[in-house]
Amino acid sequence: MECIWCNEDKVRETTKDGYWIMPDGATSVQILRVPALECVDCGLYIEDEINQTVEDRVYSSDLSKYPNVLTYEELLKAPMLDLFKLK
Ligand SMILES: [Zn+2]
Repeated sequence: MECIWCNEDKVRETTKDGYWIMPDGATSVQILRVPALECVDCGLYIEDEINQTVEDRVYSSDLSKYPNVLTYEELLKAPMLDLFKLK
């Protein structure tokens, strides 16, 4: 697999924990085991596409049932916010 930074075939698939800001802009949520890539030269990073997916989900999912920590898998399974119920 190729690294998106250096284009060398020195990358392996792994996971990374990270923090994302909640829609209120004040609190953050920790997402565990987010798919990530690890390059021998560039280090551990999350691809833009995955980063965008997490960001979209954090904004559109109802995370009220979860503590401030959840796994990437749980995030994908979380129910979508019912926008009609919002004020
Ligand atoms: Zn690299």
